[in-house]
Amino acid sequence: MNDAAIPEPSRPVEVVHPTAPASGETIEIAPGLLWARVPLPYRLNHVNIWLLDDGDGWTAIDTGSNTTGAREGWDLLAGGILAGKPVRRLFATHGHTDHVGLASWLTERFNCSFTTTQVEWLSPQLRRAESMADDTPHVARFLALHGCNEATIAAYREERRRIQLHLMALPPVYQRIRDGEQVRAGGRTWQVITAGGHAAEHASFWCEEDAILIVGDQVLQKISPMIGVFPNEPDADPLAEYLASLPRFAGLPEQTLVLPGHGLPFRGLGTRTWELAHHHRERLATLRGLLAGRAAKTGMELTAGLFERAVAEGQGRHALSETLAHVHYLVGTGEVQGALEADGRLRFAMAR
Ligand SMILES: [Zn+2]
Repeated sequence: MNDAAIPEPSRPVEVVHPTAPASGETIEIAPGLLWARVPLPYRLNHVNIWLLDDGDGWTAIDTGSNTTGAREGWDLLAGGILAGKPVRRLFATHGHTDHVGLASWLTERFNCSFTTTQVEWLSPQLRRAESMADDTPHVARFLALHGCNEATIAAYREERRRIQLHLMALPPVYQRIRDGEQVRAGGRTWQVITAGGHAAEHASFWCEEDAILIVGDQVLQKISPMIGVFPNEPDADPLAEYLASLPRFAGLPEQTLVLPGHGLPFRGLGTRTWELAHHHRERLATLRGLLAGRAAKTGMELTAGLFERAVAEGQGRHALSETLAHVHYLVGTGEVQGALEADGRLRFAMAR
């Protein structure tokens, strides 16, 4: 089944709570399930934290990055709502810096366990090690292959520095969750749903009994989750994985309360998954238009066409990753071909 199987929606997405909790505050979103936020120092300026009341302790989901603001946010929670009983478990939906950056600080502080999928425990450790390596020739090769400009190369350098600052070493011990497994937390049973595309083994938590989905970044309320190709896996096709994951979420009941990693809780999962699939289909159509000309184009030339503003604003690194995700999708369907040319650049054109 692919995303074309998601029916076109008749109802808009409905935001459940229009106002987010301030740092250190919580909103009870369902009995025993609290919504908190910690700030992030990025354009995306917050991450949602879910606190599940286990009766004799708490389970917390996701952490924020290793920044003063996020630590202060946790300090306020620890001195407030969490003060009465211990945090026993920390879960992470996936291994991106804004979701696990403070995991080891929190597990030490609360003396609690850490739970995530195997890939999401491993991948941030590799990313952190790579950010500290003296030399990363595969990154330079990737950037040269796609015809990167100076600004994008500088953005990669900045990203390395940011990983070192904002992503702490992961807890050395973890508890593994797998797709389809059931976990008890906050008085509810949650089924783990893993999916690729945004992260390789991203975990969402589905409570069928109460129709609540802690969805992480797999389906976001307002923005489209980042789907990117990176130097470590230069031929990856994450968009195919992402689009393949959406019907699984679209098939959950429409009244499901969806708790995303960023933005606001909402209802209308079918509508939102359709919108996200549609957004990517439109971007693929734009890309086909850019590739329709006679001259083959580098990844960076296509990026400039697809994300003109982002490139101008110095977001070329993310824009190139996203562009390549769409290009590789079309390579996967056989519509587009890449060819390495004499100047060492890879150029893409419609397959003939
Ligand atoms: Zn995130």
